[in-house]
Amino acid sequence: MKCRICGGEATIKLKSYNIKLCEQDFLNFFKRRVAEAIREYKMFTHQDRILVAVSGGKDSLSLWDILAQMGYQTTGYHLYLNIADASEQAFEAVKNFADKNNLPLIVDRLDEIIGAGIEQASKVMKKPPCSVCGMIKRYRFNRLAEEKGFSVVVTGHHLDDECATLLGNLLHWQEGYLARQYPVLEEKEGLVKRAKPFVYVGEEEIKIYARVRGINYVQTPCPYSRGATSLIYKRIIKEIEEQMPSTKIYFLKAFFKNYRERFYAEEEKVKLHPCPECGYLTVGEICNFCLLKKKLQKFSSQK
Ligand SMILES: [Zn+2]
Ligand SMILES: [Zn+2]
Repeated sequence: MKCRICGGEATIKLKSYNIKLCEQDFLNFFKRRVAEAIREYKMFTHQDRILVAVSGGKDSLSLWDILAQMGYQTTGYHLYLNIADASEQAFEAVKNFADKNNLPLIVDRLDEIIGAGIEQASKVMKKPPCSVCGMIKRYRFNRLAEEKGFSVVVTGHHLDDECATLLGNLLHWQEGYLARQYPVLEEKEGLVKRAKPFVYVGEEEIKIYARVRGINYVQTPCPYSRGATSLIYKRIIKEIEEQMPSTKIYFLKAFFKNYRERFYAEEEKVKLHPCPECGYLTVGEICNFCLLKKKLQKFSSQK
């Protein structure tokens, strides 16, 4: 195999793009895709202080790695979930990465911030663990941005994640979610700006990137993600991509460019007000984070 760019020995084959590359040209190719998304959606600049949400998996650690490589000011954020075995391994991977690259890391321990584990939190809220975990992380992102001056939070969601989400949202005609699905969500009313710099790179490419860069990550940072319905959509999207290369990128780009704005009206109806307990903006009477803490208190006082 010959590298398309330099003519040297190619060790990497990218089916979606129908190209073969050597490691160095693959890294350049990957970086260009990420830089393109950052620029196209004006995600951040070198002046921004960026909080990178890291689980310990390949997506988030690769994201942290490439942003640091590109010279951005990054700090990692890890939520330690207290799930037997899984959490300790995930934390080790994140900690080792931060130490090795000399990058700052913020760790929240779930038992310290809510006084309970994710299972119990999920039970009192009557919601799946993933949705409670997502809520807690969003809450902490906004608080940390306010307290420590981060201007943007980035997550490792990639092309396959976004295609799976889009397919799911379309199948159930989730208009509110469709309006909000975008590579960048601007800061508004105390909610920090959020961005997904991997929106144009697929899971396969990230796997290759992590391998070439020698990143040590955990396969499944969270055991709960295994049963997620998004896996069904991902599998189907993967099958379609194999039969029809480049479908993923077209599906997503066309949605962002031509169709998403049709769902805008749905979003504007939502009215936010500050939570009386903590000041965080919410649609409910009190914010979900304070609601969770109240429910946990009530639960433990009943015992
Ligand atoms: Zn090459
Ligand atoms: Zn609150």
